Amino acid sequence: MEAKNVKGTRDILPNETGGFLRMESLLNTIAELFGYHEIRTPILEHSEVFSRGVGEGSDIVRKEMYTFLDKASRSVTMRPEFTAGIIRSFVQNKMYATEDLPVKLFYKGPTFRYERPQLGRYRQFSQFGVENIGSSSPYNDAEVISLAYSMLTSLGLTDVKLKINCLGDQETRDNYRNALKAYFEPHLESMCSDCKERFVLNPLRILDCKVEEDHKLALGAPKIKDYLSDASKDRFEKVKEALRINNIEFVEDDQLVRGLDYYSEVVFEFSYTSKKGVDYGALGGGGHYGNLVKELGGPDLPGVGFSFGEERLYDVLVDDGLLVSKVPNIDIFVLPLGEENKGYALSVANRLRMYGFVTDMCAEDIKLGSMIKRALKKGAVFAVIIGENEVRNNKVIVKNLKENKQEEVNTSELINYFKALYGQGGGCSCGGSCCEGCEECNDKGDKE
Ligand code: AMP
Repeated sequence: MEAKNVKGTRDILPNETGGFLRMESLLNTIAELFGYHEIRTPILEHSEVFSRGVGEGSDIVRKEMYTFLDKASRSVTMRPEFTAGIIRSFVQNKMYATEDLPVKLFYKGPTFRYERPQLGRYRQFSQFGVENIGSSSPYNDAEVISLAYSMLTSLGLTDVKLKINCLGDQETRDNYRNALKAYFEPHLESMCSDCKERFVLNPLRILDCKVEEDHKLALGAPKIKDYLSDASKDRFEKVKEALRINNIEFVEDDQLVRGLDYYSEVVFEFSYTSKKGVDYGALGGGGHYGNLVKELGGPDLPGVGFSFGEERLYDVLVDDGLLVSKVPNIDIFVLPLGEENKGYALSVANRLRMYGFVTDMCAEDIKLGSMIKRALKKGAVFAVIIGENEVRNNKVIVKNLKENKQEEVNTSELINYFKALYGQGGGCSCGGSCCEGCEECNDKGDKE
């Protein structure tokens, strides 16, 4: 049997992981600059966290969750999104009582949705996002949107499109739901089976339908902006004004409802077409949620958050030449000549590694010429050649593969030799940048 990956999943290969890590590291840094701290919640949650949190009316809960009974017949679900699980943790750990509000959290990790796989759409994908929980100030909504925007621009994406909409407060949505029902009811017979269900569970979802006829019909539906309460209008104006002051361009889109039922007030979505003309779908989106904390057993506190799809983000960055997709080069390749010198060569390689030089060693029985070809293929600039004479005399041969020059170096001088060439490259094994050994880790470097 030829084993294959599960449909809708994607391997992130070694030539891609470096780019993913760099992208995540920048997102981490920016989240921390905004005062957010990382939270890690389990992939598995009790299913009701999502059915109550994300909403029975959402496509995610109705059709897309990986839900199963565990061996004790409890229904568990592999998270289809992060927010509900994070709010579960916020409530369970009583963060609302122990921390100043808002609590600012960021997260990253895999999520699972049984969707129809296509370009930019997987059944397992990773999200990176934030939650700002516990404050009702509209300026937290604006901060979260500007955080997402800063992340995208810092990654180098200069032409992102931001769409925003206001779904209003409870009063707004009750009135609007009635207006939508009155509008869609006469057409219900001809609408798709999903929309028939949406009509009952949450008619707002019909606005998101991708079936052409239903989509056309939805364009003529009443607009939520005509139903906003004064409080929601005022709040939305404040968010928009804050975005303008921060030079964040946006367009208002009254069809934007987003796929999760917990949203209220402002919702937003970022899209981008890569320079190759590829549109992988929304890069990310989010919004304000009024009732989720209460719905999951906590106090009556609102929150706001967003999440990016990491695969989509990575793909547009690679398409636009903003991330290089390749396996990183190594610095030094250690080449033992003869089986009996390999243990010693390994100790030399390990020492170089502890000083921060990316080092590989050839343990296979192949000719020196082939070893050098391997070293060049791995991008090594230097080879350290170790034969019987070198072991006996405590020396090694350092060969500069670019200049094709070589010289003998005392083994005890090897670290300093490379430090001189690489400047601060390497460093002490304690992780500091000292060069002659470090008292903290009691490493005497080459003074030994
Ligand atoms: P959502 O949780 O639905 O608001 O989605 C947030 C972001 O996650 C989207 O904007 C996408 O970038 C990403 N995303 C959602 N679903 C998928 C999927 N099936 N495959 C890849 N990325 C996804």
